Amino acid sequence: MRQPQAIDHFKLASWTYEMATAYTRSAKVMSDTVKHFTHVRHKSSRASPAYLATSNTPSSKGNDSRRLLIILDLNGALVSKTGKSGMWVRPHYTEFLEYLFSQFEVGVWSSARQNTVSNMCQLFGNFKKQLLFTWSRENFGLSEDDYLKNIPTIKDLQLVWKSLEDNPDMPSYTAYNTILLDDSSSKAALQPFNSIAISEFNHKSAEKQLTGDNELLNVIAYLEKVKYEDNVSNFMKRNPYKKDLASDETTERDFESTHFRYSDAKQTLGDLRNTAGLTNDGVSRRRTLEKKRPGHRKYRKSKQASSKPVTPQS
Ligand SMILES: [Mg+2]
Repeated sequence: MRQPQAIDHFKLASWTYEMATAYTRSAKVMSDTVKHFTHVRHKSSRASPAYLATSNTPSSKGNDSRRLLIILDLNGALVSKTGKSGMWVRPHYTEFLEYLFSQFEVGVWSSARQNTVSNMCQLFGNFKKQLLFTWSRENFGLSEDDYLKNIPTIKDLQLVWKSLEDNPDMPSYTAYNTILLDDSSSKAALQPFNSIAISEFNHKSAEKQLTGDNELLNVIAYLEKVKYEDNVSNFMKRNPYKKDLASDETTERDFESTHFRYSDAKQTLGDLRNTAGLTNDGVSRRRTLEKKRPGHRKYRKSKQASSKPVTPQS
């Protein structure tokens, strides 16, 4: 009579372990795949079939002779407004502008009104005259009612492409060679794979005050990858922008932010770690409060000299 084989418990345990590991691995791959397709499907929901067909046309590395068009948002992306009087500009912006204007065609499209956009454009300094266009709320084709309300807007890149069509000096701009840089991904709902959605820049953010901000260096590193692609919508669909390209090391320059006062274009260098204590004009809030306290010698002094203008300082 045949003897039943003794169970090798060690082999059984190791086989069970291998099965469990393989199961976990495949579950993770499946979960990542589902996440990716959900993300792509969600992003594609408002895009036209023609646009989606373009974004599915495989991209290959071309030569660097053509210039991409980069369309910049302002508030939240490059600047943080301080009421109506001024703005703080994102750290590393000078390096970013030098890089952009040496490599690409650059335009501005903000959902703020023309006058505010014109004020915020002070940040471009001498590069301002190189801007291909400066678009504002007036360029969304909104009804008068919607223009006045604070309704969410979508930046339809078709409007930009059409407006540049008649310019004989311009190459043809399409989803193949245009990138929108915005802190709000919903703005790019119609051409979602042509958009780099960066984190919002707010000089009062507790996180920025703690870690500084090197997002613009990260964007430079990403654009270095994208710029040779002959269909950026396809490349960016497969390789969306991520915040892991710039160095992890925090430097002093990550905290350097420049305040612009609109009235006279005065620039004041500030430190994000201190901006919470600064008023909208770059004047120390603590000093201002001191002056307002009755009985304080600075209060008495300021009463005597109340007609004198306060000089902003960093
Ligand atoms: Mg914005």
